[in-house]
Amino acid sequence: MSDDALTELTRRAQNLDAEHAGTDRRDAFELPDGVIYLDGNSLGALSVAAREATRDAVERQWGKQLIRAWNESAWWTAPERVGDRIAALLGAPGGSVVVGDSTTVSLYKAVHAAARLRPNRRVVLTDPDSFPTDVHVTRGVCEQLGLTLELVSPGEAVTRLQGSNDVALAAYSHVDYRTGELWDLAAITAAAHDAGALACWDLCHSAGVVEVGLADGGADFAVGCGYKYLSGGPGAPAFLYVAPEHLSEFTNPILGWNGHATPFAMSPDHVPAEGITRARVGTPPVLGIAALEGALTAYDGLSVSDVRRRSLSLTGFFVECLDGLGIDLPVVTPRDDRRGSQVSLRHPDAYAVVQALIARGVIGDFREPDIVRLGFAPLYLSHEDVLAAAVHVRDVITGREFEREEFRSRATVT
Ligand SMILES: *Cc1c(COP(=O)(O)O)cnc(C)c1O
Repeated sequence: MSDDALTELTRRAQNLDAEHAGTDRRDAFELPDGVIYLDGNSLGALSVAAREATRDAVERQWGKQLIRAWNESAWWTAPERVGDRIAALLGAPGGSVVVGDSTTVSLYKAVHAAARLRPNRRVVLTDPDSFPTDVHVTRGVCEQLGLTLELVSPGEAVTRLQGSNDVALAAYSHVDYRTGELWDLAAITAAAHDAGALACWDLCHSAGVVEVGLADGGADFAVGCGYKYLSGGPGAPAFLYVAPEHLSEFTNPILGWNGHATPFAMSPDHVPAEGITRARVGTPPVLGIAALEGALTAYDGLSVSDVRRRSLSLTGFFVECLDGLGIDLPVVTPRDDRRGSQVSLRHPDAYAVVQALIARGVIGDFREPDIVRLGFAPLYLSHEDVLAAAVHVRDVITGREFEREEFRSRATVT
């Protein structure tokens, strides 16, 4: 590679950073020096606000208010309050989103409730290449309700749905966790509705970085993570969306006291609460919700369309850097706008490549079987970071650093 190419890319990076200065929230986050963090799609970085919110929840609320904090710090209503903040990022109305359980449990509630809204339909569609928990949960619900799970890729879903009358639910991820491909939520949802079916969307890799448009797209149910791009912290509570038109018919498969109309009446009869509250189960993870609520303030004053523009610019520029620096690894992520906020590359030694990058301070992750997955959390990455990461990728590949023995042994979490 000529120095000219690097000089030109450096100038491009500086110009793009100037152009996108209005969406730079780097100062709101606490990234360690010497790290280019390309794993915000797996565990979002710690923000100043999340740290402060956690400290306040522990020291003042728990420490001083004690049990009074359920009222005085509004712990009891936090699942709906934080749900409303997330709804705004998803193009969903207030009162349609609640947080509290994991994505896995939230998905179970959504898929189970959705299937029961279509009692005469026997088939549930999901993507065989989906994140495994999504396939497991969907299969489990089918076994429990006596339904048939049909594994159909999102690219084939519209064709499968056309003219059919047996499908109860199409359950898909908005962005493929491995390849980063962005699927057409509105088109698949419309095909499901035309066939009399419902649609449930997993937004783990789109919430906070893609204009999801849940209401406009007509989605019936949706779930997603709090700890990925939303940066709510390790194990942060996930969110569950139920379209307003389904709320009165929504039957929570886990009837708990938090979803009861009058929880403190301590009644043995279960009367579901009105609205999204009926999707709650048990006592919410207050500390986790506090961290997530703090983290979401990073979006104050930003629209998701601005964040999306920055995200597309960062990922697009990364691919431009790969090309400009002569790195010819196959890019499995779509080069057009049908992508989330990641770029995945294929390499036969992908695991070792990721380890070699981490040793250089470029933190991404490996996904089976041969994917180097690099996530570009738009709020805290710059185009200069992107270029620096691409130079490290080039050096790891051309210097064959991934062949070193130390990068080959697998840790528990990859
Ligand atoms: C990250 C992710 C999950 C994680 O589910 P947990 O219950 O938080 O472990 C589920 N589905 C998809 C698509 C994901 O990307």
